[in-house]
Amino acid sequence: MTVEELRNRHGQLLRDRRVVDRLDPPARPADTAERYHTWNQVAAEPLPDLLGRLVDVRVRPAAYRPAHLRELQRVLDAVQPEVLHLARAAGWDTATPVLAGVFPTGTLDALSVPVPGRGVLVLVNTSLPDLLGAVLKTMTGALPHYGPPPLLTAEQASYALAEALNAHLYGNGAVEPRRLPELSGQRASLVSLMGRRATQFVLAHEVAHVLAGHLPHARRLTDPNTPVGALDARSVGWPREHEADRIAAVIMLRSLDGLTHRELEAYEPCLVAAVLLVLFLHEVTDRLADELGLTVPFAGNHPPPVRRIQTLVEHLAGHVRTPRALDLAADLATWLEGRLGDVREWFRLVDETLLGGPAPGA
Ligand SMILES: [Zn+2]
Repeated sequence: MTVEELRNRHGQLLRDRRVVDRLDPPARPADTAERYHTWNQVAAEPLPDLLGRLVDVRVRPAAYRPAHLRELQRVLDAVQPEVLHLARAAGWDTATPVLAGVFPTGTLDALSVPVPGRGVLVLVNTSLPDLLGAVLKTMTGALPHYGPPPLLTAEQASYALAEALNAHLYGNGAVEPRRLPELSGQRASLVSLMGRRATQFVLAHEVAHVLAGHLPHARRLTDPNTPVGALDARSVGWPREHEADRIAAVIMLRSLDGLTHRELEAYEPCLVAAVLLVLFLHEVTDRLADELGLTVPFAGNHPPPVRRIQTLVEHLAGHVRTPRALDLAADLATWLEGRLGDVREWFRLVDETLLGGPAPGA
């Protein structure tokens, strides 16, 4: 019952901020998202078209699409009970109702908003699942690990990554990067598993604040720089943020209980990589935002991502059960870092275009 009240509060917040009127699914959700149908098509358009898509996001604020938000909310509705279940299995339980809701918060950290007498509304940035999904698909398509030949060249992967980061940084949580084709086989299962685990970690971190009783000690913090104006969140201080990361990691590792050693060898690296991917993306987007002169809402609320990564890696290293558990995460970080030069080059071309510089290819 109280979760329904939280859902009403979420709907009201979306209406008040003119994001979307309602989230109830229509009979058949219209899917108007643009997509690539084959991997050869990715970033194969003429340069002015590729550049034009990136420029568009900056100069023309896009409208929020109800079908897109509904789809994201469905993902959260599926993931949230899994997180609460894993928390219970790890010995953490709470009587406080929690609801995760999509919202254009502009930060990769979810925001916990206590609703007095009802529970806690956890606001998850609308662009987080899109960014996670695009990065995972791009990485899986580009790395040779998952069966040669790779589906994407380095150049295609760089553009796909630039488009995803551009949408996150400039799209107000309304813009989706052009969707990549569906994957199949091992690649498809890996991406869907890691996307789910990464989202679970984001929610588990917020649930950890509730479970550890952090919120009553929290100070209210208002940030005026979100895509929809000033938003309130709670600030609990950096030591409690690290504690929430550790509790979230413990909760997530419970999902591996009962696996055989061989299964652990396959799944533990994916779990660790998914958890750390969220923080890697946080670090990369913070760095790019800084270089581009953009403000990240609620930036001081959490320790810098680099510190969170270090602390969490140390914690994970003491808790994983297989020797290569951290390897995939390391590959992922290296791959991401290796693409950033090209991503910056795309952003530089966009700046040049906006300043009326030489036409691309001229
Ligand atoms: Zn937190």
